[in-house]
Amino acid sequence: MKPERITAGLSIKRSVDAGTEDQQQIVRAIINEVKENGDRALFAYTEKFDGAKLTGLKVTQEEINEAYETLDDEMINIIREAADNIASFHAKQKRETWLYTNADGSILGQKMTPLDSAGVYVPGGTAAYPSSVLMNVMPAKTAGVERIVMVSPPGPNGKLPAGVLVAADIAGVKEMYKVGGAQAVAALAYGTETIKAVDKITGPGNIFVALAKREVFGDVDIDMIAGPSEIAVLADETASAKEVAADMLSQAEHDKRASAVLVTTSQELAQAVAREIDEQLVSLPRSEIARASIEDYGAIYVAETMTEAVQTINELAPEHLEIITDAALNLVKDIKHAGAIFIGRYSSEPVGDYFAGPNHVLPTNGTARFSGPLSVDDFMKKSSIIMYSKQAFDQHGAKIAAFARLEGLEAHARAIEARND
Ligand code: NAD
Repeated sequence: MKPERITAGLSIKRSVDAGTEDQQQIVRAIINEVKENGDRALFAYTEKFDGAKLTGLKVTQEEINEAYETLDDEMINIIREAADNIASFHAKQKRETWLYTNADGSILGQKMTPLDSAGVYVPGGTAAYPSSVLMNVMPAKTAGVERIVMVSPPGPNGKLPAGVLVAADIAGVKEMYKVGGAQAVAALAYGTETIKAVDKITGPGNIFVALAKREVFGDVDIDMIAGPSEIAVLADETASAKEVAADMLSQAEHDKRASAVLVTTSQELAQAVAREIDEQLVSLPRSEIARASIEDYGAIYVAETMTEAVQTINELAPEHLEIITDAALNLVKDIKHAGAIFIGRYSSEPVGDYFAGPNHVLPTNGTARFSGPLSVDDFMKKSSIIMYSKQAFDQHGAKIAAFARLEGLEAHARAIEARND
């Protein structure tokens, strides 16, 4: 990777995957099949795509007990501590119902209600993601969602990874099902004999999962369509090249389409980070993925001034931003667009991935311009409350009727006037 001087109108290479026509067809066919044949379709697809011949979809208590036995106690306690941190952070987000009374005696407000049910998709396949379990379930739990369902594809042995089961149990999930892909999303959206439909589906997944979420949106709510992971590091000459390179690779190893970008005011740091990335790549177990990501979507930009560097970060609107500069905290006010901002050298991005508390489900592909992390709000909905007093009605009724007639809605006006006694 060669450091480049920032140029005006920086063209940002983004990996947006809308899926091919074929993939869209496949996903629609799977959804229809699940709607028609319910559990039977889920068993058949699980055998076809995951190589698992299941006798039941629901995870049993024995499987959960076995998962606890598989993990060592220290690891279980780490998951517990992470869950507590995530719960404490999200508790601060929770908004309560509010009401106020106007001088005319009318009472107005907003009632906050948790969703009745939520389905969390936890990706399976080549890796296990207990952290995704915690990051999706804890905000739902904090919101007060009564029924939280987890789905995840089993391995060929018909089991879910121990870490996923333990994290789900610690997070308080009572319904876990061994099914993945578009078929799991369809089951959550429309229900089958075993899996009752939910109101909202959250959680990351591959293109089949993403397309299925897009397809069922409207019948149920979804969180977002997450793209490949991104990190941007904003650094000056005070940063360590070794640490910056390690942090960039921590995202590059996620996916060949993940992106890792350094924006710096230091030419020396830029060159040193480029060298470090090459060196560190060699010994990474997932070096093939990380190398492809760095080659295709990685970049090092050298800016003349910190103002120019910050402007570039705002154009990137990265999912994760690390600021490793002198007086890093002072720069935060200038950052307009970033999903999560990690400040200072001790806030390496994995601190937030696993443990600190803020959510790691974040906007990608520049969508930090208009959205933010998954939160308790995503699992609650608002109802407006309007209670007019006689005094308020007498004072404003004629204005309301006039407004209705402006829109040509006579019945609206008469509904008001019917109360004029
Ligand atoms: P997955 O659970 O998303 O998908 C596996 C399922 O895909 C299978 O069960 C199968 O049903 C379906 N599938 C596979 N091939 C298919 C085909 N040809 N036709 C129809 N369906 C098919 O697991 P994965 O594939 O390992 O992908 C996980 C993804 O989630 C990765 O892209 C990873 O980067 C992403 N991820 C993102 C985050 C985040 O926070 N953004 C976290 C963890 C994982």
